[in-house]
Amino acid sequence: MEYKVLYRKYRPNCFKNIIGQDYTIRMLQNAIIHNKIAHSYLFTGPRGTGKTSTAKVFAKTINCQNVQNGEACGKCPSCLAFDNSPDIIEIDAASNNGVDDIRELINNVKIAPTEGKYKIYIIDEVHMMTTSAFNALLLTLEEPPQHAIFIMATTNVESVPITILSRCQRFNFKKISLEDLISQIKYVCQEEKIDITDDAVTEIAYLSEGGMRDALSLLDQLASSAEKITLDKLLANYGSISLQFIRELLTAVANRDVNKIHESIVELQNTSSDYKVFIKKVIQELSTIAVQIRTNTYNGNFTYDQVKQLVFSLNDCLNKINIQINPFTLIEILLLDSFDKPKEKEKNVDNYMENVDKILEKAQLKKKETVPIKEQKLEEVEKEEEIKESSELPAKTEANYDTYLEELIKIRLNNCFAGAKKENLLTLHKLWPSLKDDLNLDATLKSFLLDTQVVAASSDYAILTAKLESTVHLVNKNLALFDDLEPLIGHKVHFIALSEEKWNQERQIYAKTIKSGGSYSLISEESLENLKPQIKSDIEEIVTNVFNHDKIEIV
Ligand SMILES: [Zn+2]
Repeated sequence: MEYKVLYRKYRPNCFKNIIGQDYTIRMLQNAIIHNKIAHSYLFTGPRGTGKTSTAKVFAKTINCQNVQNGEACGKCPSCLAFDNSPDIIEIDAASNNGVDDIRELINNVKIAPTEGKYKIYIIDEVHMMTTSAFNALLLTLEEPPQHAIFIMATTNVESVPITILSRCQRFNFKKISLEDLISQIKYVCQEEKIDITDDAVTEIAYLSEGGMRDALSLLDQLASSAEKITLDKLLANYGSISLQFIRELLTAVANRDVNKIHESIVELQNTSSDYKVFIKKVIQELSTIAVQIRTNTYNGNFTYDQVKQLVFSLNDCLNKINIQINPFTLIEILLLDSFDKPKEKEKNVDNYMENVDKILEKAQLKKKETVPIKEQKLEEVEKEEEIKESSELPAKTEANYDTYLEELIKIRLNNCFAGAKKENLLTLHKLWPSLKDDLNLDATLKSFLLDTQVVAASSDYAILTAKLESTVHLVNKNLALFDDLEPLIGHKVHFIALSEEKWNQERQIYAKTIKSGGSYSLISEESLENLKPQIKSDIEEIVTNVFNHDKIEIV
């Protein structure tokens, strides 16, 4: 017998077997029961979520002569002939994107159905059609014959013209939940007598990110060896990060086991893991822990606030990470940052900071030496795209804040020059290396201290430089963190950061000004009050991102 891939074999043939789209199914069934079927539908959503399967079941049920409780009977002539019915026309726009195919469709649309009540066109990947094909289709959608129904499916609704969208009843297909994926994978394994461990099932569900087709395709590949499918084999073949690994790492974070965290991060780097996949999985697991804490079913050492902060920070990291620095270095610092303030000095924390020091140095040196220009450009493009993406929604606040920051930097630079003294600089120089060992300091601040150096100082102002633009940006966005240095320095110092290049320019301007007899006088920062936007704290901003704009993808 011909081998049928699992995804096709287990394709749902009735509404009740469609997984994870309850709302859509209910609406479609209601339309059939109440005889309120529209002429055009648009199914949108990620791949493998059941759009085409649902379109077929819907088409079959519409033409069934004996619908029972919103399901096709499976016995009437129309149901029996469904697979070869001339009244069901399937078009894959990804392969037939010419105007000719649509023209043929339009010519034939006027001809009455041969057997069923309706002629049903299922157009898959409709966004792939050309503009002229869309225009041709539009004419038909505007005045469809009574017997014609169009069901269009797309993974990319943004590419479907508004003129088409406005003529369709639209249904959004959701990613399939982890639980639903797991239970379906288990069911298929049972039916197919596939020997598989529970943790491998869970991992497949994770890897397929809400898509049933991906889940069953992966299962297909793994089952072809006819050996028992275990998590180890799965990970060896697909280079993924196991859920167990994530859980152990998070336990280490909850228990403040610095060495274990460091070992795990080194392992991730050594196995060239994808940091985005890693972060997504950690966020997924943290969300599970958050629910456990709130339902009193958690027995680890995390507090709800810690979990919440980690999720926000990691999400921010994912959205705004600047790949010029090793992302795992940032992740490691972030994980460490989630610790409560330590009560006593611990030896392994010292070791840890030394390690971070080394990693940072290495990461920077490596990048500087080996990244070819072409790759750097690519990263810049990616970076720009990411920035564009992440700033799309809160753009107004961000823009305001950037303007404010720009002015603030100018003023602080001026003020620092106005009172710059060598002795102030020497004092900070002396202090800087010791700060990284101060356990009371925030881990993010420490990471800044490691990555910056003081190049000019007056009694109240200081200029920092950093090799990486990303550090400069981060430092300037988080200047408030430097307030923590006040007790260590003895008084308040206003910091700003510049790139080395920018600092060299500014230094030359300063030298010229002084040489030509010019001078600098203090400018009050209060003059910026009217520019100062309602700056949201980072956390608030992330909360807005997360909850208003679905920035976190949880499958
Ligand atoms: Zn039937």
